[in-house]
Amino acid sequence: MSDRLSAAVERLRAGGLVAMPTETVYGLAALARVADAVARVFTLKGRPNSNPLIVHASTPEMARGCCSAWPGAADRLARAFWPGPLTLVLPKAAWVPDIVTAGGPTVAVRVPRHPLAIALIEAVGEPLVAPSANRSGYVSPTTADHVRDAFGEADVLVLDGGPCEVGLESTVVAVGDDVLHVLRPGVIGQEELSRVVGMPVLLATESAGPVASPGRIGPHYQPRTRVVLVRTDAELRDALATGPTAVLTWPGEALEVRSPHRSRAMPGQAEAYARALYAALREADAWRAGQIVVCVPVGHGAVWDAVRERLARAAAGR
Ligand code: AMP
Ligand code: MG
Repeated sequence: MSDRLSAAVERLRAGGLVAMPTETVYGLAALARVADAVARVFTLKGRPNSNPLIVHASTPEMARGCCSAWPGAADRLARAFWPGPLTLVLPKAAWVPDIVTAGGPTVAVRVPRHPLAIALIEAVGEPLVAPSANRSGYVSPTTADHVRDAFGEADVLVLDGGPCEVGLESTVVAVGDDVLHVLRPGVIGQEELSRVVGMPVLLATESAGPVASPGRIGPHYQPRTRVVLVRTDAELRDALATGPTAVLTWPGEALEVRSPHRSRAMPGQAEAYARALYAALREADAWRAGQIVVCVPVGHGAVWDAVRERLARAAAGR
């Protein structure tokens, strides 16, 4: 075990916090079993206590140990997508502290795909909560430097595992007896899920009552600078007329962006766009323009849908 990894294990066992790379985004990890450690995660992030955390396991068996029921659909999903960017919401095991689940009867579990995350969980020998390692509401971190921008080493030991391979948070799915509800879209989409479980997969709306995902209420993925979405040349031209702007362009965009504006060209391919998005929003934020204008990418499929959902939320309420 590397010195860094043993220091991380020690930090966790003492009730401290470690930022760990996953394939989705960097997570702010603490022992799921220890309510005080979990409380520190909420405090440091400034996360509302009403927003439950995802518990990360190194194996499907460890994830199952966090749950009091494990239907056949959970088994099929785990086999098909773990390790990977899919989170399952199931009835919680009694040992899982209430603070993890925001007092609710269900727990969200996932086996991440990053080797360093797996090594850390294996070494500590028990599941870890790991919400995105950013201050609540801000853009999620996809590099170790993003985490260091927000938190000091005294509060968080950062494990650097390079830039995240997926770059967007996991798909969150509530597993019912005869239906799945997608609580948060991600790169694993409804069609793919439905093919694996052979049951209907519905997108939970924010008013969906018992299956609603608490974390989808309130601001998320938001830079300090106001984000404005545009879909046509005319909309972009109008937005630029309002003052100096940071623009994330897309290959479909024909209009040239010149000084006093600054632009960054985003990838035309869906997975590459997803991987680049949060770093681009952070970079554009640092330009301190009056606004960040994003040319909304066109394209079909789960990855583009997840990208557009994050963009919509980054721009919401502004
Ligand atoms: P984050 O940790 O920032 O990636 O956010 C975790 C997401 O999972 C949030 O949208 C939470 O609301 C959602 N989540 C976690 N636990 C549950 C649960 N028991 N039921 C429904 N959604 C959950
Ligand atoms: Mg988050």
